[in-house]
Amino acid sequence: MKFWSQYFIPTLKESPADAEIASHKLLIRAGLVRKLGGGLYTYLPLGLRVMQKLTQICREEMERAGAIELQMPLLHPAENWVHGPRWAAAREIMFRADSAGEGKRSPREPEYVLGPTHEEIITPLVKAEITSYRDLPKNFFQIATKFRNEIRPRFGLMRAREFVMMDAYSFDATDEGSVKSYHAMKAAYEAFFRRIGATAIAVEADTGVMGGSFSHEFMVPAEIGDDDVIYNEESGYAANREKATSGLVPKDLPDAAPAGGLEEFATPGVLTIAALEAAPHSVPADRQFKTLVYVGDGKPFLVILRGCDELEETKLGSLGFTVFRPATPEEIEPVMGARPGSLGAVRGTAKNFPALAGVFADQAIRLVGNGVTGANKDGFHLRNVNVSRDLAVTKFGDFRRVRPGEPDPRSGAPLKVRRGIEVGHIFKLGTKYSEIFGAAYTDDQKQNHPMVMGCYGIGISRTLQAIIEQGHDADGIVWPWAVAPFQVLICLLDPQLPEAMELARTLGAAAEAAGAEVIIDDRAERPGVKFKDADLIGVPLRLTIGGRGLKDGIVELKWRAAKDIAKVPVAEAEAQLAAAVREGQAKA
Ligand code: ATP
Ligand code: MG
Repeated sequence: MKFWSQYFIPTLKESPADAEIASHKLLIRAGLVRKLGGGLYTYLPLGLRVMQKLTQICREEMERAGAIELQMPLLHPAENWVHGPRWAAAREIMFRADSAGEGKRSPREPEYVLGPTHEEIITPLVKAEITSYRDLPKNFFQIATKFRNEIRPRFGLMRAREFVMMDAYSFDATDEGSVKSYHAMKAAYEAFFRRIGATAIAVEADTGVMGGSFSHEFMVPAEIGDDDVIYNEESGYAANREKATSGLVPKDLPDAAPAGGLEEFATPGVLTIAALEAAPHSVPADRQFKTLVYVGDGKPFLVILRGCDELEETKLGSLGFTVFRPATPEEIEPVMGARPGSLGAVRGTAKNFPALAGVFADQAIRLVGNGVTGANKDGFHLRNVNVSRDLAVTKFGDFRRVRPGEPDPRSGAPLKVRRGIEVGHIFKLGTKYSEIFGAAYTDDQKQNHPMVMGCYGIGISRTLQAIIEQGHDADGIVWPWAVAPFQVLICLLDPQLPEAMELARTLGAAAEAAGAEVIIDDRAERPGVKFKDADLIGVPLRLTIGGRGLKDGIVELKWRAAKDIAKVPVAEAEAQLAAAVREGQAKA
């Protein structure tokens, strides 16, 4: 039992200027966290209590799924990362930590980094400790702080520079085993989100820099989310926009026959798709080929899309480059022979075609069949460009951004879009890390094989805020029972009355005996202030004891999530409070 006057819940009337979204405002106003710097937060007692609940429930569900808890250092020798597969990409988001004075590496290379995740640490550990198929499978997890130098930390705990993650790593002898481990984690995640009272849906996700073979993200639907989820509830299709595909291009679409010979025509000053759509040229965007130049691991490459489509940049990750970016105009001219606005991928038109690492075409250009593209000559385009006859395509793929309304790849039903907060992620990794770090096992025939890995993460601190984003009203937070910092708040309107205090202690003890955590608001504040704070901090069950009520022999019981207030005779208060606690537990 805690007494508010002795505790520390610094609630605020106003939210800070930098808090843009409801959950961020409430985090601060309800006294859960305080900001230290960009993306850095102190967990105040209430916030810490919720974090501890989330951590404990997560731990229970991971252990139930057979995972084993350990704890790895947060400070990593940079060697581990340099040796790993994603140093080039990951170093951008890593904080460096150098021990003063004795720089063993060149001044440009860090000696230590603060861990953004732990594949580079767990894999060498498992390599050193596990060698036989008899010791597999294993799944290790920890719940710990991660550091990422996010370019734009924002929305409080949602995108922080230091945050708490549950991360797990599975090691299996076989691919089948690894798929099983993956599904066990998916089920554990579902159980976790259910228990904490959050709605999180599993959606297909891009494997990105991890380069694994498949992956799901867990998304809490919310307007302020950073991700677009493309879905159709009837078919059950759900994917992150970065990964989503559609049935726009029929699988059996025949190649278009040429419509005529290539013709060059002058397009002075026409530099955009829209300009070519306008008179006098009047070429609809869906009859144009758009040519983009990117640089992948130092070499330029082309991407061709329909003029009406947008590139989904993440999908270029499937091309196998470690890092890629749009080319600058200065890089484009020497390769293509023209500036952006007149570029194309017609065979024989680029100035230095062999310099290109490839020409990657979105499959939807096959819907264009014959169209218009840049001539690689400033101020000129080509018409009657036939996809199979004229374009120098190395490989077709899916690179475009799906739009709502396009047919679901499974059922053909129209796809929808909604925004979501990514609270968790699971990857089937394959053998990429185990091969690089030599994490191998011997089978019963004494043969060596790389272990098949999976990796899994839940953003615990982000989840805390996602719960608030999902569960609040105009007055404050509405905590789900299982993660509430306290489940019962006893509001003492007249704390100076000994009989009121006495009753509060008795009822508090009864609620505790029923399994609730109790806080008694014994502050010398006006009732209005107490009720406002009670709503703000969102404790599920409120019991109010006032001097006037006591004269009539009643106290009041109210659920935070409901409007009505029950008047309860003092004689029945203990039993009714205990019953309400059991009701709360049952709903959780
Ligand atoms: P995002 O796309 O939001 O940047 P991510 O895909 O880089 O996240 P993962 O590497 O998959 O993140 O990490 C696992 C989980 O950690 C995420 O699902 C998310 O819940 C959480 N997380 C990642 N970055 C942050 C951050 N900067 N602040 C708080 N939580 C984070
Ligand atoms: Mg992720």
